[in-house]
Amino acid sequence: MAAVESTTASELSALLGNARARTLQLVGGLDESQWLGPKLAIVNPPLWETGHLGWFEERWCLRRLADGSLSASCLPQADALYDSSRVPHDARWSLPLPDMPATLRYLSEVRSAVGERLSQGAIDPDTAYFARLSAMHEQMHCEALTYTRQTLGRPALQGSAPAPLSAGTCDGDVEISGGCFELGARPDDGFVFDNEKWAHAVELPPFRMARMPVTCAQFADFVEAGGYHEPRWWSDEGWAWRLREAVLAPAYWTLDRGAWFRRRHDRLEPLPANEPMVHVNWYEAEAWCRWADRRLPSEAEWEFAAATVPGAPGIKRRYPWGSAAPSGNTANLYGTAGRCLPVEALPAGDSAWGIRQMIGNVWEWTADWFRPYPGFVRDPYAEYSEPWFGSHKVLRGGSHATAPELIRNTWRNFYTPDRRDVFAGFRTCAL
Ligand code: FE
Repeated sequence: MAAVESTTASELSALLGNARARTLQLVGGLDESQWLGPKLAIVNPPLWETGHLGWFEERWCLRRLADGSLSASCLPQADALYDSSRVPHDARWSLPLPDMPATLRYLSEVRSAVGERLSQGAIDPDTAYFARLSAMHEQMHCEALTYTRQTLGRPALQGSAPAPLSAGTCDGDVEISGGCFELGARPDDGFVFDNEKWAHAVELPPFRMARMPVTCAQFADFVEAGGYHEPRWWSDEGWAWRLREAVLAPAYWTLDRGAWFRRRHDRLEPLPANEPMVHVNWYEAEAWCRWADRRLPSEAEWEFAAATVPGAPGIKRRYPWGSAAPSGNTANLYGTAGRCLPVEALPAGDSAWGIRQMIGNVWEWTADWFRPYPGFVRDPYAEYSEPWFGSHKVLRGGSHATAPELIRNTWRNFYTPDRRDVFAGFRTCAL
């Protein structure tokens, strides 16, 4: 079992309540024709995904028995409908799912029973752990429901971005000393996932990392230089993907009378030159790097640049800027702008090395495959990490659609290298 922070019922209720408010915002307004939506490998039907949230919470918070088996669900056939490790992805559109009002009633019923457990005096560590896990699981699915809205061209939800903060330029590279450092989470970091455990020594040579992620304008230079027509910039797998998918430009980009436009949800906007490149997959990021004589950082380099402090060996920060929880001044996460901000915004969130926006705005691809840290032991939710080792690439830092309560410097996200629907961009290092 993971280390558990000392947690009060009201903290857990707030975490669960924040996640649920967001779920309802994302799925509550869908009309009946949108409950299932088109059958695509990269999205779940929203009706299924909503029911799966209730199933997960009930399974972990209410149904675990001492002998490891599960008690019955309050919803007949819940396991056959919503167990993500048992129900194949393309079967999720043809199941006898309850309709949305009945699904939301199931979620409320589960949540009331969980609330009752939390209100019964001292909370045991298992209850606290699984209630927190359920809130995080729901917030992660909320990010997925948000990029599903982008994939399907549905309206954005979170209002418009504030005026870009003028923070001056912050381009160029930072020279980072490297040295011996501990990659991963420490036992006193509170709730962490199995894939972050545990901190272990890594020796890094000095490296130079860009202060800002690659912008849309910088990516457009590659496109206009014929980057999508030149196999020499691509790995064999990347070029095979490019040919197979017949891709000639980044996702959502269209050329109109010589100018690039990009679809954001249901609107076509002029390409925002100064925002980070987003909806780019690992192959495209890698090709840009070869063209530009740059490279992706390793995840150890990313975490070193985000968490360590020059001249203070042994210190590791929870966030690039320190230990304070993220705010609208330090990171563009869910609840801040609702879309990407320009790459020079939010200087108060700089890391101790002066690197900007490591948390928030866009997830950042790293060079590395997702693999277990030494001594890996799976947590009770065994399907979270282990099935994906070796087939997914690691991303760090969170996006504008990531909940602030999820993200931290040691958090490892992971997607297959062909995914361009997620809110992912990249930052580079000098060769
Ligand atoms: Fe799930």
